[in-house]
Amino acid sequence: MTGLTRATVSALVDDLVAGGLITEMDPPPRTGAGRPAVGLALSSAGPAGLGCEINVDYLAACVVDLTGTVRQRFVEHADQRPSGAERSLESLGRLAARARLAAEAEGLTVAGAALAVPGLVAGNGSVRVAPNLDWQDVDAPALLRAVPELADLPISVDNEANLAALGELRVSGGDPTFLYVSGEVGIGAGLVLDGRLYRGVRGWSGEIGHVTVYPDGRPCRCGARGCLEQYAGQEALAGDLPLAAASLGIALAAVVNLLDVPVIVLGGAYAPLFAELRAGISEELSRRVLTSGLADVVLRPAALGADAAMRGAADTVIRAVRDDPAAWLRR
Ligand SMILES: [Zn+2]
Repeated sequence: MTGLTRATVSALVDDLVAGGLITEMDPPPRTGAGRPAVGLALSSAGPAGLGCEINVDYLAACVVDLTGTVRQRFVEHADQRPSGAERSLESLGRLAARARLAAEAEGLTVAGAALAVPGLVAGNGSVRVAPNLDWQDVDAPALLRAVPELADLPISVDNEANLAALGELRVSGGDPTFLYVSGEVGIGAGLVLDGRLYRGVRGWSGEIGHVTVYPDGRPCRCGARGCLEQYAGQEALAGDLPLAAASLGIALAAVVNLLDVPVIVLGGAYAPLFAELRAGISEELSRRVLTSGLADVVLRPAALGADAAMRGAADTVIRAVRDDPAAWLRR
């Protein structure tokens, strides 16, 4: 199909095997007559991605290999709000270092790290604002690299809902257009259109937590009133689940009316509560979406559950290696 000769392919394969990106399968697959073929698979002992996440009430780090398998996973539950950015990122850095060392003890090479944060991120990886952590202009990569075991790693930063949506896109396989809604203390959304994440012109899309659901309602940290986050954020959710579901339904109906998104994926704290939330959300969707009588909006829980953001983060590292293996081999 590529038009490459057998000799060229063999040379490329040799490079990829030597670089630890692919491995020869044993035993080789059965073929017809002629020279036996060699089976090849992505290596589970080559480069790997380190995915990290900080959220209001937990820190998490995982290592995912080239095949997409999670090889290490560490989660630490603790309220990060009193800590401040420097201490939180130092704790996360230590957790990530443990994940990296454990993965390297298994023969993997961590190629880079990506960090998921519940906030708005500038192009250079600095966190412009993370309201629920009370962070402003935090140079997250530099603070993580202050942990000696991470000092040599390239580290990228992105919004947690964006990374979770990308993680979901890789595993879901079927839906090229969906809205991923991440329920944490804050609420974020990642909009995937035709297989691509839509970030907005300045990278600030997805702030569904501040969509107004009750104009004269509860005051929000952002200064407005009646934001979705005040009714369906993790802390409000615990108090009144039916109200949370209805509020979510109202906000999601607006999204569907505007964008004709056929699938909504509920992640973060919503994933384990999906069975309880579904009916309340659906009721509002059928009441408020103009086309609800014509086509259903599919609601489903995130396939990766609460790990979606850190898995998505690790996946961006893996994806970069898979997209440009020559760059990895030249390093
Ligand atoms: Zn708000």
